[in-house]
Parts: sequence; structure tokens; C-alpha cells
Amino acid sequence: MIDEILNKAKQGKELTDNEFLELLNNDDEKELEKLFKTACEIRDNQSKVIKLTSTVHLTNKCQIQPRCEYCGFAEETSSTGYYNAFYKSNGEILSAVKSIQEAHIPRVSCSGGYGYKGKQAVNACKIVKENSNLEILVNVGGDLTEKAVEELSNLGVDTICCNLETINEDVFYQRKPGDSLNQRILTCKRVSDAGIGLSSGLLLGLGESKEDRIKHLRYLSNFKTLEEIPIMGFNPYPDTPMANYPAFPLKEQLKMVAITRIMYPEITITMPTPTVGPENVEFSLKAGANNLATVIADNYPHEVKGVGSPNYGNYNKVVDVIEKLDLIPQII
Ligand code: SF4
Repeated sequence: MIDEILNKAKQGKELTDNEFLELLNNDDEKELEKLFKTACEIRDNQSKVIKLTSTVHLTNKCQIQPRCEYCGFAEETSSTGYYNAFYKSNGEILSAVKSIQEAHIPRVSCSGGYGYKGKQAVNACKIVKENSNLEILVNVGGDLTEKAVEELSNLGVDTICCNLETINEDVFYQRKPGDSLNQRILTCKRVSDAGIGLSSGLLLGLGESKEDRIKHLRYLSNFKTLEEIPIMGFNPYPDTPMANYPAFPLKEQLKMVAITRIMYPEITITMPTPTVGPENVEFSLKAGANNLATVIADNYPHEVKGVGSPNYGNYNKVVDVIEKLDLIPQII
């Protein structure tokens, strides 16, 4: 039955919401393999190059209160996260950037907590652009002012990320009671209106339905500069309000990667290695992803705790997996 839907996808025809739902509802292993194979074919027809993104966490001091229920990144949220507050100095940012460049990783994500109106993002972008030829993505949530977006644009920022996580308002405000969905949407719109590449992802497993996920994917097409969709799965961080909540199943996360690839053949689909588990990177590539984030090389000078879990992807291991799959790691 899904053959017909997948053939339609291969021919580049639009699928209906019901057809996407049918793909998500399918649990037959053989049929799933067909789904993943189709997604990979669509990706490989565009390019077999896999982007790698390393990271600099600028600060874990976040002014969102109450905290997002799943957060293990902000200060004093989880004993296995960073826990102690930090704000990286310019020298620390620079040494991390240099190490990323030396490791031949082409792109850096500079991210940090909420509450600085984008000043920390502008400062990091300046350091990256003045001292390296890395591509840069900045992600400071929904906290960017119009002025900060303009400054980032003038500095030549490549991508700005603002994840909506879920567009189901009830779920959003249950899990993120101190955050604002409208503010996040406004930030995406500001980025798009400024002509800057937008990255905006889904955090799966917060309580949203499959229909919500499809609606969310469709909703992202409203942003004309949308170029990247991170597909993240919830993992419980100890000591947080969601510590006993089940992790989002990998299989469901991979299905979402595949249907995102079918819906957006040319888009960058990002799997942050902490949220998929570094050991599962191979499966994400086999489902149609083409960017692996939070990839850390051995020469990295600072401690890194992933945003979705304390893990991250080791550069050498990640490159081995990409090459084993006959794909091409983007290396500078
Ligand atoms: S998830 Fe992000 S916005 Fe929410 S409390 Fe943590 S750092 Fe702040």
C-alpha cells in the first residue's frame, strides 16, 4: 500500500496529509526500509555530501522562568548537564573556533540561553567571521531583536536558528511555561524577512500528536528563507520535571526524518547527535538526514554537554560512518 505513496514521492508529486500520516503510522519493518530508501534516494539525487556542524555553547545562563520542563542545559537544571553557570569569554570562543577550523569541520553553531537580546550571538558571529572561514549558525532562541538580526546580517551570518519545538500551543505552554511561541514565530519571521537562511526544528515527544508534527512541517513553509529543519527527539535529563518521561523512540524520529525529506527534498535536515544518540548517527543518515550537529573533534578545548542529552558525536567516528555509507563528509 505504501508503494503507491512512495512512487508518488519519487516522482516529485505532492503527498497529502493523510498519505504522510499513513507513512508515519506504518510499523512494518520491510515497509519502513522502503520509506528510508526512498528518502535517501531523494537526498542523494540532490547531493551525497553530508554537512558537519560543531558547536560553541556561549552561555547556559538563561532567563526563561519557569524553565522549560525538559531543559538540562540551563544552569542548575540537571546534575548531568553543565549545572554550574558559565559565560564564555571571547578568548574561549576563539580557541573553540580555531580548534573547529583545524579539525576541518566546516560549520559552527553558536548557541546560548535566552535574555541577552542577541548580543551574545552578535559577539560570537563577529569572532567567527573575523578569525575563520567557518559557516556560522547562531541559535539563541526567540530572543533576537530586529537590531540584532540586522547586525548579524551585516556580519555575514549564514543561518539563524529558532526552533519552534512544537506548534501545538497546549503542549508548548505545558512544556515551556516561561517561553513564548508567538515570540519564536516572530523571530523566524524577522530572520526570513531579513533574507537570512532560517533553521527551525521540531522537538519530538513532548506530547504532540502525529498530526501536529505534519502540520508543523507544513507550517514551516511559511518562512521563505527556510533552509534547515533539525529533527530532535526528546531525551529525559535527570532532575528535570520530565526526568521520568519516556525518551522519544528512535524509530519514530527516523520516520520523521524520512517524511521531512519527502516533503522538502532540498532542505538541510539536521540530526543533533545528542538527541539521536551518537551511536545512532548511521540510522539518521540512512533515513535521509544530511547534516550532523554537535560534532566534536578530539582537539576541542572545552567541555561539551549536548543540549538534548550530555552526549555528542565524535568527529572521527562520525566521518567513518559517513564514508562507510558511501556518502561524502563536507570537510574544509
Ligand atoms: S530549553 Fe532553552 S529556553 Fe528553555 S530553559 Fe533551557 S536554555 Fe532556556
